[in-house]
Amino acid sequence: MKFLYTFLLIIISYSSISPSEPTETLYVNKEYTLKALPFEENTDLITVVYPGDQVEVIQLEENLAATNPNHAYLAKVRFNQKIGYIPYHFLQAKLPKNIPKIRKRAYVEPKKYYVTASSLYVREEPYRYSGILTSIYRDDEVTVSQFSDTDDYIDGKSAKWAYVEKDSIGGWVFSGYLTDIRESTEVYTPETPDSLTVGKSKFTIASNLHVRDEPSKFGTVVSIMPHGNPVKIIDTTNTIESMNGFQSKWVKIDDGDSKGWVFGAFLYDTKISKKLNDSLDKPFLYPLSPDPGDSRITSPFGPRVDPVTKKKGTVHTGIDLYPYARFGSPIYAAGDGVVIHQSSNTSFGNLTVVQHDNGLVTYYAHQQKFLVKQNEAIRAGDKIGEVGSTGKSTGPHLHFEVRTGMWKQYLDPGHYIPLPGVDE
Ligand SMILES: [Zn+2]
Repeated sequence: MKFLYTFLLIIISYSSISPSEPTETLYVNKEYTLKALPFEENTDLITVVYPGDQVEVIQLEENLAATNPNHAYLAKVRFNQKIGYIPYHFLQAKLPKNIPKIRKRAYVEPKKYYVTASSLYVREEPYRYSGILTSIYRDDEVTVSQFSDTDDYIDGKSAKWAYVEKDSIGGWVFSGYLTDIRESTEVYTPETPDSLTVGKSKFTIASNLHVRDEPSKFGTVVSIMPHGNPVKIIDTTNTIESMNGFQSKWVKIDDGDSKGWVFGAFLYDTKISKKLNDSLDKPFLYPLSPDPGDSRITSPFGPRVDPVTKKKGTVHTGIDLYPYARFGSPIYAAGDGVVIHQSSNTSFGNLTVVQHDNGLVTYYAHQQKFLVKQNEAIRAGDKIGEVGSTGKSTGPHLHFEVRTGMWKQYLDPGHYIPLPGVDE
């Protein structure tokens, strides 16, 4: 018995000091924050790695949440004595070219950087909810004179805040949206409101432009236009408004197919590759009948008591919408996109997952009937299924989720769709 015990101890200690597979050293090709656990929900972050950093791969694990076959593996890696997980396709054998040199540094020489976000607020203090001084835009050149001491975690990136100067205004921006390599040489100056007159031809430059029935961000979305769509101006308002960091006015446009109002900052004289993000109000449509009298929210996003298991302290990863017409009520796509996943399981029941151009993914669960197929391209407002009570459900409802990023982190859908009784 004592012999067996000693023998087991030897095996255990042997396996812990000698990994079963040889390790390999690879270069990181994308800025990423290593995760503590190989799960998509894991927000326990270890450290940031940048393109060109060398990591030692300890082992590979299957990424069970991956919907893209190229993302099938996660690598457990060691970097600066720290261990964490990174998607394997963010690693490569050769040193990547054009490595942005932006790094975590408390103080740096005044140096020029370029904005990678479509628009970025310059704030009074180095934190997210501080007052807004001005906005800077993609490819704008800014001079950074200082970085914050600590990292912040925003939109899946971990980075410091940078003190930037632009046109003699100084303030803080999140440096996760700066690079020291200019990505585009395209020159873009937002149109002045004066250039937006009736009869002019323009192109849409928002990736998912919401066209509304009234000249207001609260107008109902009547159609969604793709980027680069030729349009003609048929009417304008006179008031200059400030929205999304731009100054412009509302413009009524016609593309021969549909007519409606858009904010003028999302139109441009020529067709350019630059894509602005039309984040006015909410980017998605309500996924059931938009008439406020047709449905209600039965369970919001966030912590709750599980309605089936009655377990306390569980997290509701989406919102539940209950249509008064109950079973068979139509479910509408929240935005343009592609059906990337469809399945039937005991928790989500009949589930459709849609990938949108804006990088977000929407989930439609517990359906009675699918009306679209995997890989099908769909438009906002298309009927994609019928409300049911399949899977872990206590009655007919649509469980709707919005997720983001490689790890498909849950977002509060209330920030992305208009809610009945709240936004009307
Ligand atoms: Zn739910």
